[in-house]
Amino acid sequence: MDPTPRTTRPRAKDRVGPVLDLLAGLYPGAFAGLDHANPLQLLVATILSAQCTDRRVNQVTPALFARYKTAKDLAEADPAELEGFVKSTGFYRNKARNIRACGRQLVERFGGEVPRTLDDLASLPGVGRKTANVVLGDAFDTPGITVDTHVGRLSRRLGWTRHRNPVKVERVLMRLIPQPDWTTASHRIILHGRAVCHARKPACGGCALRAYCPQVGVVRKTKTGPQMTQTPAQSRSDREID
Ligand code: SF4
Repeated sequence: MDPTPRTTRPRAKDRVGPVLDLLAGLYPGAFAGLDHANPLQLLVATILSAQCTDRRVNQVTPALFARYKTAKDLAEADPAELEGFVKSTGFYRNKARNIRACGRQLVERFGGEVPRTLDDLASLPGVGRKTANVVLGDAFDTPGITVDTHVGRLSRRLGWTRHRNPVKVERVLMRLIPQPDWTTASHRIILHGRAVCHARKPACGGCALRAYCPQVGVVRKTKTGPQMTQTPAQSRSDREID
């Protein structure tokens, strides 16, 4: 007698394509949520978006950008005045300090222009790889993977990686996602994290990605108590590239 056929889930790299297709259908107009008219404005808005919603940043930036139009304006900003503009975004002293320092470095090292490489961008005060990739992707059309809290969480739940380190997650996604799609895929994953795959209560029941998602680490309530959908050991088989 034939053995019972075993169903095996496709490897992570084979599940990524269908997931990206589904996300493209769900969020066809994926774009950066931060209002901006040039690379400098996007850089400043992205610095302000740390620990803050895009919506709040977009409320603050019109007046800010009207007051400070160039990197030199930012470099020479009165600290207290600049803090006043960005106060409602939280951590405003730090952010204002970074924006002023960023303006200074743009003037001193890059002729007042926003640089176009990841290394140069990430060398600016208050700018990490996440911010640099946002600017590259949305201001310069250079594909970049943005690993924020949503992209990290969904990548693990979808079984694409077990890593928690954003740089390691970024490297895995760079191998799994075709390069031209890096920026839009990042936006779409973020949108899905906000809309459906919430940190605490992911809406798996109505999630369009469900067929391709092992839901790694998602806690389900059962009659016998909360249960993990997959243990880290089980999810190890889904690990793509370390
Ligand atoms: S099935 Fe659940 S865990 Fe997987 S992406 Fe959808 S909401 Fe997130």
